[in-house]
Amino acid sequence: MSRAATVASVAYVALGANLGDPVATIETAIAALADTPATCLLAASSLYRTAPVGLRNQPDFINAVAKLETSLSPLDLLAALFAIEARFGRSRGVPNAPRTLDLDLLLYGEVALSEARLTLPHPRMHQRAFVLIPLLEIAPACKLPGLGAARDQLKSCHGQRIELLARGAAAAQA
Ligand code: ADP
Ligand code: MG
Repeated sequence: MSRAATVASVAYVALGANLGDPVATIETAIAALADTPATCLLAASSLYRTAPVGLRNQPDFINAVAKLETSLSPLDLLAALFAIEARFGRSRGVPNAPRTLDLDLLLYGEVALSEARLTLPHPRMHQRAFVLIPLLEIAPACKLPGLGAARDQLKSCHGQRIELLARGAAAAQA
């Protein structure tokens, strides 16, 4: 066995969709993440129905978060996410616009990066209940590099509507 084996990192990806059949899209996209080369799916959150942020006059979103182990670099993983978005017919319009599928790289190990193409941690994740609640479901002790415990960021998401899509559909208000 080669000693030059690439070290794997844990990464978290946010999934969001609000056009077409968003529940089916998110479930299929989670399967696509599991099929990504050099990558394993370690966990996937429940699906959540959430109110749009920014442009209000559009359908609710379905959101989830996936935990991956990958030996792809951060930029190669981002490229893989864009390739999955493209398979679902994503075309890039204005920020916060309706979309068939949005995949955002939230965290990649402890990496902190600030480039237009890739910013880590994702620059808006700590303000979004639709990211933090599914993330905390699968990673309750998660820390955001530079910001501390993810759970401590939830207070800045007060009032954002998010509802668990599951048996019994318990509703949560951030
Ligand atoms: P948004 O998800 O904010 O609505 P897009 O999905 O259209 O918007 O992404 C806009 C740009 O953000 C992309 O060109 C991408 O290169 C860049 N970007 C920067 N950091 C990240 C990240 N952590 N995850 C995903 N995209 C990112
Ligand atoms: Mg995106």
